[in-house]
Amino acid sequence: MASYFLVFQSHIYPANAVDIPVLCADSQSFALRPSNVMKGCQQNELSLGEGPIAYSLTAEKKLNPILEVRFKAAQAAAKSEGINLKIVSGYRTFARQQYLFDQAVKKHGSYQEASKWVAPPELSHHPLGLAIDVNYPNEPDSAYWLEINGYKFGLCRVFKNEWWHFEGNIAPGWKCPPLFKNARALLKS
Ligand SMILES: [Zn+2]
Repeated sequence: MASYFLVFQSHIYPANAVDIPVLCADSQSFALRPSNVMKGCQQNELSLGEGPIAYSLTAEKKLNPILEVRFKAAQAAAKSEGINLKIVSGYRTFARQQYLFDQAVKKHGSYQEASKWVAPPELSHHPLGLAIDVNYPNEPDSAYWLEINGYKFGLCRVFKNEWWHFEGNIAPGWKCPPLFKNARALLKS
């Protein structure tokens, strides 16, 4: 009876697990491995997630943990090719984004002009923990590695005028969507 129970358990559990393979990163090396279809990632692994990283209005005030795993996996892969990726800015408070936007308004003269360069806090994904700025301001070549290879990890560049800004807006392995012209274009999307 006991062994029957165990068999029963092992058939129940996968119903809660993933039904498509996801990428799992080793929690130390961040090397990637496709998950077992039925079991998902193992205990010493971190999942890169099944789809685009979802918005959450109740998210903790920090960088989204799946976005962080995706970046670390990309960082490990880049390092093996001699590229040093680093997050210069990730989670920002709403107040910090407001400050950055106010500075941009002073510099560019209006809300409309400023929002071409800095996302207004109500549009920015940094206060939601869903955006990272990579290798800004002096290493566009390194960020370009992520622009080309990021899709493998579920990371995409988003704006034509911000080579440093990346989000987890696709499932790992999907194709990145076309770039928005700038942060202001979010108003129309
Ligand atoms: Zn950014």
